[in-house]
Amino acid sequence: MAFHRFKALETVLSRVPVNVTLPSTKVSEFFGENVFGIDAMREYLSDEAFKSVMAAMEHGTQIERKMADQVAAAMKAWANAKGATHYTHWFQPLTGTTAEKHDAFFEPTEGGRAIERFGGGQLVQQEPDASSFPNGGIRNTFEARGYTAWDPTSPAFVMGKTLCIPTIFVSYTGEALDFKTPLLKALNVLDKAAVDVCQYFDKNVTKVIATLGWEQEYFLVDEALFMARPDLAMTGRALFGHAPAKGQQLDDHYFGSIPDRATAFMRDFEIESLKLGIPIKTRHNEVAPNQFECAPVFEECNLAVDHNQLLMDVMEKVARRHNFRVLLHEKPFAGVNGSGKHNNWSMSTNTGKNLLSPGKTPKTNLQFLTFFINTVKAVHDNADLLRACIASANNDHRLGANEAPPAIMSVFLGTQLSNVLDELERKVKTGKMSPDEKTALKLGVGKIPDILLDNTDRNRTSPFAFTGNKFEFRAVGSSANCAGPMTVLNGIVAHQLIKFKREVDDLIAKNVEKDEAIFQILRKCIIDSKKIRFEGNGYGEEWVKEAEKRGLSNFKTTPEALKAFVSTNTLNIFVRNHIMNDREQHARYDIYLETYTKKIQIESRVMADLAWNHIIPTAIKYQSSLIENVKGLKEIMNAADFKKNAQIQLEMITEISEHINIIKTKVDEMTEARKKANVITDVEKQASEYCNKVKSYFDTIRYHVDKLELIVDDESWPLPKYRELLFTK
Ligand code: ADP
Ligand code: MG
Repeated sequence: MAFHRFKALETVLSRVPVNVTLPSTKVSEFFGENVFGIDAMREYLSDEAFKSVMAAMEHGTQIERKMADQVAAAMKAWANAKGATHYTHWFQPLTGTTAEKHDAFFEPTEGGRAIERFGGGQLVQQEPDASSFPNGGIRNTFEARGYTAWDPTSPAFVMGKTLCIPTIFVSYTGEALDFKTPLLKALNVLDKAAVDVCQYFDKNVTKVIATLGWEQEYFLVDEALFMARPDLAMTGRALFGHAPAKGQQLDDHYFGSIPDRATAFMRDFEIESLKLGIPIKTRHNEVAPNQFECAPVFEECNLAVDHNQLLMDVMEKVARRHNFRVLLHEKPFAGVNGSGKHNNWSMSTNTGKNLLSPGKTPKTNLQFLTFFINTVKAVHDNADLLRACIASANNDHRLGANEAPPAIMSVFLGTQLSNVLDELERKVKTGKMSPDEKTALKLGVGKIPDILLDNTDRNRTSPFAFTGNKFEFRAVGSSANCAGPMTVLNGIVAHQLIKFKREVDDLIAKNVEKDEAIFQILRKCIIDSKKIRFEGNGYGEEWVKEAEKRGLSNFKTTPEALKAFVSTNTLNIFVRNHIMNDREQHARYDIYLETYTKKIQIESRVMADLAWNHIIPTAIKYQSSLIENVKGLKEIMNAADFKKNAQIQLEMITEISEHINIIKTKVDEMTEARKKANVITDVEKQASEYCNKVKSYFDTIRYHVDKLELIVDDESWPLPKYRELLFTK
């Protein structure tokens, strides 16, 4: 009986379309209404308290305790008016999701009464019982104290009936246990480093922020079908499943019209997101069937990171209202495109200038080139670290597959800017330049905006591409917290800018004229970072060979890639710039390895369970029905007819046995390999054992299960198939 699948499909077919009640007002009338943002703060805070929060947001100044009390009271009044009964410190532990522990606003008092209470103390700091969050050995369980501390740069918001206060999460000894702490530090270092470099060009620049605009890809799967797939439910991806006859080869889904049911879901989560101040703006179908993308307008990096975390949460919640499940996994379906989260990144000054956007004058263009070239240099010097910060068990399925950015880091500049860089390299003289030479150089630089306008290069195969006024880091995984890659990117660019400034100043000290000094150091950066530039097809085999020749790394698996996290180079950058100390960085390394191991372990277990409990019994039952059929034929036919008519069935019976045998043998071997890996205590060795000795069984087992899917009667196949998962609208 096609029990599970049939039942699941029935639920789909009988479903009444979801009606979404849209707010009758315009977006501008409800945008950010659930955020304790500038408007709400103005309304609820005294002038003094307002100024104190604004100063903290803009300059990172401390908020005095007295002020914190005022802010807390105002926040509570505002949240209560929105119907909130509880508050929580909202933080981003290294599990990758967000964490919250809700406390009611009241506190019991003597005589069985209660008073409403939420003061500065509760706002500024909390001590969640955090012993079971990953900490990489930083916090022993007996010393379970971890603190969350208010991050005033990201506004509080109301979600459901809870006031959520964005916070950092640190150990008792002050070490970072979360994603946000190092990000804030990296952003701070970048601010200072970039402001210093901006002084060469514009003395009015006193603050530089990093900007981030992410694009979130995801799949939608009908909830009933999802529930009938234990692998999807437990690992987020289909461990088995034969590719459907029709996949994405017709490219008819990309930018096609969005199915009604998906549109209803999108509208609903977009409205929730907009109310939370997430400036979501774009939505479209992606390449694979049932794959979609959404993107907001870019924002300051820390806020954008919080908004992405929040959005993923909102999406999952809202999806359930529509009987959908959102798959944020990087590769839920083998053979079909995976999902990424492009991180569009730039830097912006308090004077309103995008530092990666060419300007109108040679001076602003030299500033543009300075930031542009330093970014390329930073990527060149830290390519392995960039690869490490996007590594995960999930993303391993995507990077290097032929639809995703390769695991090899490179930068795409576009023909025009490549030419500009080549020209700079040729024209800048190491010795003293004549006034004519300088003028020619500056004139050349002055032409950038014009040529960029008709720069139509849109190389989609590069993991790190310049797209006119920003870089797009495309290798980030769809389920990742952007804070990881953003800490690295901002950190390495800051580090490079500091180095650049020092080198230019050294030349200036030797009486080299400022612009000339800048040109000379830029030229050096261009020469030194040549091997990271690649304009060709990043998906091609030739690139793998070429990259190897150039000496670029190609780490295919997470355990290999993660090593760069604790390299001397990485530690040097993070420790020296106070983004992360040695212990924190090593702890993180251990946590990521452990997470990797656990993911593969779970997948392996689920795979074995499914094979044993779903696949093999189904195959045997079907095989038995074939045997019955053969027996029957034998009974009613003479030997000659029987030989002719039972041939196919007999072959199928053998084929099924062969597949079952291999599945059984490989599952047993894999289980043994797991047992061996489980007793390894060294996290590094264990992760690599799981990678090389356990995961290596996945493809073979899957191959034979998928073959059975093709042979066994459709009616009795226990798992919803790709065509159902991907084409149910
Ligand atoms: P696609 O990559 O799909 O072609 P776009 O190139 O239009 O899409 O990129 C869209 C994303 O880039 C949006 O999220 C947008 O907000 C973001 N973006 C645009 N300018 C900047 C910037 N200066 N800094 C960061 N992100 C930006
Ligand atoms: Mg993009």
